[in-house]
Amino acid sequence: MKFKSIAALLLLNASAFAATEPTNSLTSANVKTQNNEIQTIETGDTASEKLTSFDSTKDHLWAYSSEGREVFNVVTDKGDVIKAVDVDGFAYSGDMILGRTQDLKNYGLKVYNGDDEENSAAQKTHSTDKLGTIIYPTSGRKWPNGRVPVAFASNLGPKAVEAINYALNHWNTNTNVQFVARSNERDYIVVQGGNSCSAMIGRQGGAQYVTLAEGCGYGGAIHELGHALGFYHEQTRQDRDNYVTIYWNNIQRGMEYNFYETTANQGTSHGNYDYYSIMHYRTTAFGINNATTIWPTYSGVDTARIGNSTQLSRGDIAAANAIYGTPDGGVTQYTGYLSKTNDFQIQPNGKYFNHSGGQIEGTLTGPNNSDFDLELYQWQSNKWVKVSSSTNYASSEKITINGQDGFYYFKVLSYEGSGNYTLKIKKN
Ligand SMILES: [Zn+2]
Repeated sequence: MKFKSIAALLLLNASAFAATEPTNSLTSANVKTQNNEIQTIETGDTASEKLTSFDSTKDHLWAYSSEGREVFNVVTDKGDVIKAVDVDGFAYSGDMILGRTQDLKNYGLKVYNGDDEENSAAQKTHSTDKLGTIIYPTSGRKWPNGRVPVAFASNLGPKAVEAINYALNHWNTNTNVQFVARSNERDYIVVQGGNSCSAMIGRQGGAQYVTLAEGCGYGGAIHELGHALGFYHEQTRQDRDNYVTIYWNNIQRGMEYNFYETTANQGTSHGNYDYYSIMHYRTTAFGINNATTIWPTYSGVDTARIGNSTQLSRGDIAAANAIYGTPDGGVTQYTGYLSKTNDFQIQPNGKYFNHSGGQIEGTLTGPNNSDFDLELYQWQSNKWVKVSSSTNYASSEKITINGQDGFYYFKVLSYEGSGNYTLKIKKN
């Protein structure tokens, strides 16, 4: 499943590729198992003990019941179907406002389009750095250069003010997205108070609203800004049934529509299923008497953490940077954790990347009192070949090559010791 989605995404870019696409998946030999990946994500993150946002007593903040309302299908140009309810002329899917009901019925929803000029730069990384969360950076609905003007409405409550300030700062410091105070930009977000936690999805044009009730919390504010950037819910990914079980009988009447997965579609889900995504529902979301509605099929997942985070997961950050990143001439930073001597990880994020020629630079900073090394591999004649390595007796390594067109990945390995590392990858 993992590889299928990689292949599908690469296909979108096939014409841009000079080299033959690697035929063997990194997943077979070089990448850690599903469970290991989960643990790796776990280790590097700091605690999420701040405000727990998805409190079961607050389900009413997160979605309108479909009871007494029209439920209809929003069909995307990629053939996805998203269930929505009509509320006062707007199409709500849970806490996401997809647009005006009538527009969506007439025209459907246009999603990411690689031919779109505005998105063409991001498309390049789209095919390589696809980690994290489902995202529909709709054509024309991406925020140019990842810059999002924000204004505040006067009716925001004090807790909501605290939460949104935390959330804006969190996005700004952890991703390439920059929320800035609005001056006179035409398209912008208004953060307003209200009785719900909701947001209009992607850039809609003109003023658009993020609504934050007092109970939305820090995590809720980050989550809603994610919607404004174009992120959908993690558990509606097409591959979600491989990772979670939905307990339909436990779902409150009228809330079932929140749990339909989107139908098959290629190029919208980023990377592996991410239980700890800020865009994931908690395990008892919309449950009758707080019953479990969604539960991982894999063991070893920290279920208390699902939907309860107050920070972006690594996958969220990778997805945001893949869409709102700096594809050429920019530096993207990756972090990881090696647990022992001889442990290793593949970067970026367990994947290879396509490089269209020019310099590739990798700068590794490992923990003190360790000896981490860095290697660079290229796909040549149907196999992965080590093309460069940096093996100082130290925790810092640097590789710079003038790369030909092709596919590459970095390998970070521990010659001695364990700990967190940072790898900066720069492509010119
Ligand atoms: Zn949401």
